[in-house]
Amino acid sequence: TPPEAIRNFCIIAHIDHGKSTLADRMLQMTGVVDDRAMRAQYLDRMDIERERGITIKSQAVRMPWELEGAPVVLNMIDTPGHVDFTYEVSRSLAACEGAVLLVDAAQGIEAQTLANLYLAMENELTVIPVLNKIDLPAAQPEKYAEELAGLIGCEPDDCFRVSGKTGVGVEPLLDAIVRQVPAPTGDADAPARAMIFDSVYDTYRGVVTYVRVVDGNLNPRERIVMMSTKATHELLEIGVISPEPVPGKGLGVGEVGYLITGVKDVRQSRVGDTVTNLAKPASAPLGGYRDPKPMVFSGLFPLDGSDYPDLREALDKLKLNDAALVYEPETSVALGFGFRCGFLGLLHLEIVRERLEREFGLELISTQPNVVYDVTMDDGTEIVVTNPSEFPGGKVAEVREPKVRATILAPSEYIGAIMELCQGKRGTLLGMDYLSAERVEMRYTLPLAEVVFDFFDQLKSRTRGYASLDYEPDGDQVADLVKVDILLQGETVDAFSAIVHKDKAYGYGVMMAGKLKELIPRQQFEVPIQAAVGARVIARENIRAIRKDVLAKCYGGDISRKRKLLEKQKAGKKRMKNIGSVEVPPEAFIAALTSD
Ligand code: GDP
Ligand code: MG
Repeated sequence: TPPEAIRNFCIIAHIDHGKSTLADRMLQMTGVVDDRAMRAQYLDRMDIERERGITIKSQAVRMPWELEGAPVVLNMIDTPGHVDFTYEVSRSLAACEGAVLLVDAAQGIEAQTLANLYLAMENELTVIPVLNKIDLPAAQPEKYAEELAGLIGCEPDDCFRVSGKTGVGVEPLLDAIVRQVPAPTGDADAPARAMIFDSVYDTYRGVVTYVRVVDGNLNPRERIVMMSTKATHELLEIGVISPEPVPGKGLGVGEVGYLITGVKDVRQSRVGDTVTNLAKPASAPLGGYRDPKPMVFSGLFPLDGSDYPDLREALDKLKLNDAALVYEPETSVALGFGFRCGFLGLLHLEIVRERLEREFGLELISTQPNVVYDVTMDDGTEIVVTNPSEFPGGKVAEVREPKVRATILAPSEYIGAIMELCQGKRGTLLGMDYLSAERVEMRYTLPLAEVVFDFFDQLKSRTRGYASLDYEPDGDQVADLVKVDILLQGETVDAFSAIVHKDKAYGYGVMMAGKLKELIPRQQFEVPIQAAVGARVIARENIRAIRKDVLAKCYGGDISRKRKLLEKQKAGKKRMKNIGSVEVPPEAFIAALTSD
């Protein structure tokens, strides 16, 4: 297809504003999926995506369309909407010339509407504003058209009004995409350069890589080079998705499609990387490549220790499809053998855990998530801490923690509640803007550690669910952090150690000690629970011993026999204490590690 007849666009929106549903209608109206084969959220292929109703991996589909008798090819890229996957969204955007910015006409602009709009503007995309769900009785398209127009600097009448559910307004929108989105431009005679915007592992075919060709062309049987790693591969198959893979004779300037090289691991075909031709390589890659960087770490342990090899195998398999997942073996005194895993964020963690449990039948315990700390010792040694138990005990000069720039959108009546929450989470207000009389945008820097803990839940409950949040990494900062250890009978239980701000150490200690007192059953002997910072105990609780009623059996008067029994029992308790073997049921660990 000549570039003039191609339009590459994506649909961007806050989560649940209806991207996938609108994509469904477009697939139907362009005849790519017929009515019989249609099912909701057609492009969300993973089970978890379908059940949670969220899009995790981007997908790209080629759709034929016609404007005033002239055929065009529309390449639609459906993007994930959650903050954890911002990098994937940004790569999808870089593969397009235009973006349909979708806003729920009953909700208005939300935090990720803004985040996505800014990404689209950074990528210099033509933005088409669209109000969706106009079939809803609660829809207020006029009101939100004002808001949206004010935001992007157009007239309220320029905002399209559609319903992805009923299909109203979708045809005019497809026409507008052809009219407004620029055709791709590129140098057809230059060495090939194609950007990878997605990469998925398929059990039967190996890695399927989604690319957008910028310059030149890629053809079957050629040898290609991944520019970031210099790895070369043979192009076994190249084609387009419509809506299933259709092998073809190659991809030219502006085209979007997939390629297969037989590699088995998505790390060999990284999102953001540039593909070129071995015989005639490009001199410079396309910009924007970034290594996926895990932001949140957690230990994953099998509930049943004998499942450890299965867990390793499952992680090895998941990794094939998830370039951002990292892990290494970890041994915990309390939980046995497991893995220390790194994730993009909390949703990513939840998804990986859920897939391990669902697809591989594993029962897992995960430890409290933590961020990565950079510790500088007095002697200048630098230590990267991804596990609280590695936090050094010696002379620490400085601890640095990651921070984020957060954007919160909410009705203005909640400003006070949000400020209070952010202050409690060590946030600094950067600025505040009114989007309309009753809607405000607040910008904060916050420590990532505070955001990943329970920030979102608290934000939602303090604003009755009306606030939305988006955040992006924003470097790091020096902070006054300490490690709190939890000791049972004087022994540190590594799974419960946490790195917290000095002012919160006491609160964490009291909370954990209290929880464990409730959760650990009484033993034959007394079990002291302590929370400590270094050698200093900051909180303590006691689990009282079960006092066996040894005297009940001796009726009658023999006092010397009673005394003997009492002494025997005491000795027994002493021996147990010396061993220090507190029996903690696994449920107690799970319950203690789950925040409530
Ligand atoms: P996404 O997260 O942006 O991909 O949103 P989805 O397409 O998964 O839609 C989120 C929810 O909104 C689903 O329950 C959809 O059925 C519903 N929805 C999407 N579009 C419309 C619409 O035009 N009208 C109505 N009434 N509901 C819609
Ligand atoms: Mg979706």
